[in-house]
Amino acid sequence: MLKHDDHVAVGVSGGKDSLSLLHILVKLENRYPNSKITAISVDEGIKGYREEALLIARKACEQLGVRQVVVTYNDLFGTTIDEMSEMELQQTPCSYCGVLRRKAINKAAAMIGATKIATAHNLDDEVQTLLLNMLHGDSWRAMRSSPMLRDPRGKFLPRIKPLCEIPEKEVVLYAYLNGFDFQSVACPHGHEALRNDVRNFLNQMEQKHPGTKFTLQRTTEKLRELLAGSAEVSQLNECAKCGDPTPHEVCEACLMLDAIPA
Ligand SMILES: [Zn+2]
Repeated sequence: MLKHDDHVAVGVSGGKDSLSLLHILVKLENRYPNSKITAISVDEGIKGYREEALLIARKACEQLGVRQVVVTYNDLFGTTIDEMSEMELQQTPCSYCGVLRRKAINKAAAMIGATKIATAHNLDDEVQTLLLNMLHGDSWRAMRSSPMLRDPRGKFLPRIKPLCEIPEKEVVLYAYLNGFDFQSVACPHGHEALRNDVRNFLNQMEQKHPGTKFTLQRTTEKLRELLAGSAEVSQLNECAKCGDPTPHEVCEACLMLDAIPA
């Protein structure tokens, strides 16, 4: 996933996953003098929630000697998640937030000249998203969202998920053992009903049949290898509006932003 001279833009929210990832990457980076790390924090505009996390992220960056860049939805998109939650939109604020966060991190990473984008999705996140995409009937997306997303033409920044094989429990343990101060309050907008059901289902399965999450992850990796040559999985276009990578003509973020009343 990493090269000795990478400039890695790490998404750092202030939660246990991203603080653990930052910590691990900084340890690695110390061994490679030509590498560089910049933390990207996104302020979605969620009152009473994001301020605390941003402060935690800032302190962690100061302690580790990492430069932190903060980008806000308000500056980038002219609105906030709090505002969006008041609007009559087709999808939940969480759906908007996920797509816009990815776009915000893309923009920040391009701005600072990064060579890779790293996010802290763990094994649980990955298999939950996999099942969610399948339950939504979006099978191509399930096959596309690989932990190491590369564009063979080199137009778009590669995205990596170094913690994709680490169960959430182990990330929590790492954060506790290292004494990280991390945000433990859940987002006030976080009511993704289907994801909660999928999370519970997977945890029950894992408890009764240990290894379930790994098996799902491994099976998907095999399917991705098999499907790697097919256009539906590998084709990435430049969004006609913003130039970001998308399997469609216009990217999801642009479609969402168009749907927001001015
Ligand atoms: Zn776009």
